[in-house]
Amino acid sequence: METSNPAPQSEQIAPELAEIALVLVETSHPGNIGSSARAAKTMGLRKLLLVSPRRFPDADATALASGADDVLDQAQVHDSLDQALDGYGVAYACSARRRGIRLPELNPRQFAAHALAQARSGPVAVVFGNERVGLSNAEIERCQYLVRIPSNPEFGSLNLAAALQLLTYELRMAALELVGKLKGKPDPRIPAPLGEMERMFVHLQQVLERIRFFGSRSPERMMARLRRLLQRGLPDAHEVAIMRGILSQIEYMLDHPGRDAGPQGVSEQDQG
Ligand code: SAH
Repeated sequence: METSNPAPQSEQIAPELAEIALVLVETSHPGNIGSSARAAKTMGLRKLLLVSPRRFPDADATALASGADDVLDQAQVHDSLDQALDGYGVAYACSARRRGIRLPELNPRQFAAHALAQARSGPVAVVFGNERVGLSNAEIERCQYLVRIPSNPEFGSLNLAAALQLLTYELRMAALELVGKLKGKPDPRIPAPLGEMERMFVHLQQVLERIRFFGSRSPERMMARLRRLLQRGLPDAHEVAIMRGILSQIEYMLDHPGRDAGPQGVSEQDQG
């Protein structure tokens, strides 16, 4: 069972996310309006502006919203794009085709970072076109940026709600990254001092020689590989001590064949 979350997720990530408006121009299929509401809500966006939808409200829209009814209920309906964009500072036109329009073009990732930054200083709108004809040149010219999902050039037009899902996902990823950058703590683990690493490698080589691991292989080359492997993990001092403990225990068992365990046996403390 899904549980409803009392606080909107987006508030915890970046409040700007919930402020970005999604404008659907002359949508033909109400199902696409419902799917778009759902897509938006899953990514923490809630503002839907509908410009002359063919049918709205509509049972198909509600059915496909599948629980995002609140986003549908709050959707504003406008007669024209100009009216919808009134009060918005920045608008992005989403189009599968370039259409020779001289607007700066952004890919979805560039768009997300850009729009999120803009949303901090004022209202932002993202504009999607009709399923069959897309956005007209006049509609695109109302916007300052063109957003194009770099799709298959021979089959480049996504379903409206799919395009909206992809772009809102990028917005959410950009918001998460932003929060991570602001709140991210540096890794508290401190890599082991290099001296301890060196002593571990010397010890490892001695034990590998004792158990005749190198055979006809070059110890230098094998040690270089093992060095790379162990250094990649940036072990801390405690982890290096565990490795040393393992090596000492191997030596002890070689020196005392037949014994069950020795003084180096793993202690409670080392298991942590
Ligand atoms: N035949 C129309 C397709 C419209 S699809 C055309 O070629 O323009 C409905 C809407 O989804 C588009 O107007 C656009 O806003 C969005 N969309 C679909 N594919 C897209 C893409 N590759 N990049 C950006 N937006 C896209």
